[in-house]
Amino acid sequence: MKTVWEKYNEQQMEAVKEFNQGYKKYISDCKTERECVVESIRIAEEYGYKNLKDLIASQTAVKTGDKVYYNNMGKSLILFHIGEEPLENGMNILGAHIDSPRIDLKQHPIYEDKNLCLLKTHYYGGIKKYQWVTTPLAMHGVVCKKDGTSVNIVIGEDENDPVLGITDLLPHLARGQMEKPAPKIIEGEELNITFGSIPLKDEEKEPVKANIMKMLKDRYGIEEDDFMSAEIEIVPAGKARDYGLDRGMVMGYGQDDRVCAYTSLMALLDTPTQKKTTCALLVDKEEVGSIGATGMHSIFFENALVELLELAGGFSELKLRRLYNNTDMLSSDVSAGYDPTFPGVNEPMNSAYIGGGMCLNKYTGSGGKGGCNDANPEFIARIRAAFEKHDVTFQTAELGRVDCGGGGTIAYIMAQYNMNVIDAGVAVLSMHAPWEVTSQADVYETYRGYKAFLEEM
Ligand code: MN
Ligand code: MN
Repeated sequence: MKTVWEKYNEQQMEAVKEFNQGYKKYISDCKTERECVVESIRIAEEYGYKNLKDLIASQTAVKTGDKVYYNNMGKSLILFHIGEEPLENGMNILGAHIDSPRIDLKQHPIYEDKNLCLLKTHYYGGIKKYQWVTTPLAMHGVVCKKDGTSVNIVIGEDENDPVLGITDLLPHLARGQMEKPAPKIIEGEELNITFGSIPLKDEEKEPVKANIMKMLKDRYGIEEDDFMSAEIEIVPAGKARDYGLDRGMVMGYGQDDRVCAYTSLMALLDTPTQKKTTCALLVDKEEVGSIGATGMHSIFFENALVELLELAGGFSELKLRRLYNNTDMLSSDVSAGYDPTFPGVNEPMNSAYIGGGMCLNKYTGSGGKGGCNDANPEFIARIRAAFEKHDVTFQTAELGRVDCGGGGTIAYIMAQYNMNVIDAGVAVLSMHAPWEVTSQADVYETYRGYKAFLEEM
């Protein structure tokens, strides 16, 4: 079976390594949607991107070649690079999501039980809960205080930091547990974070918890009630690393979908001004159905377009509708990689292989394509031509055997605007596990594919 590695010369091999260095750093530094937004803005500003909200405030006109970003509540981000043609001629969009499966703290999380301080959680997204126990975990998040200030918290990433975790039962006493079906081996209410064990001296009532709260007060100035207005995420601790003796893959947390977010972002930043406006969308809440103000179902994208049209010569409903009609989009999201250890769930002729290049999914959904965005063949033909012109290696796949399972992305939401949309991204092994795996060649080829799309469509 041919891989994309075989076509690379020495120089290209170097380019693959270098690109993946940047990628590994991005996913090591950015483990929440907020951290992704902050870091993506930092990188984009280095490329000359300006805050669209500043231009709106100063009523500054937007013209060809301008680069602007629109930050929605610090949790989703849109970047536009204005093209030569009017906006109503449509845009080429790369749309990825920057939320990943994880474990969130509840609003009343902290308690003490039998000399341990623990935190109650509610998991986010589709996880196999048993995978998240007895592995080092870190805490990332924000606590918003009544005085209007907020504190960012990151515990467990610095090598001198302590880590957190979730305990599991010893096998000696797990006879009952081991007979349970997998979803119940560890139940949702058993995903309790171990947070501390040293009591505060001379404290009668819950001294271990009191000691932890004192440390939080001293370090971050927060009280127990402040957890009510906090968004704290528990994620795997540690950096992304090369995977395999030959270093051909990346193991890292949150590759669904930050692998497509990073490649989409870099493809946009590295693409010069085109005829059409180019755009990257990094959105929140995909893993829980794209609902909520920062998810793709929210009208923030439409609001940004209205503002952009206004600054680019004047908004009209007609221009907005034409923009939608004339827009092409890649829903930049990951695909299920074929795992030779579990061949039964895939149909080999229509599977995504590690090292097989960028992956196009014409449709997702489950059970008779239920809930799918089925991309138009006319659109796929244009993409094939763009990829051929740029020598992009790609494969096409579906999400597992027919009736085996299923899933979705933001493709169907964008298709509601009457855009042409197809899912396109990187194949992942161990998807939604604490540590996911991708091929470095696929990461690089996907970046190249996104760039080809922005330049040729
Ligand atoms: Mn995804
Ligand atoms: Mn996912």
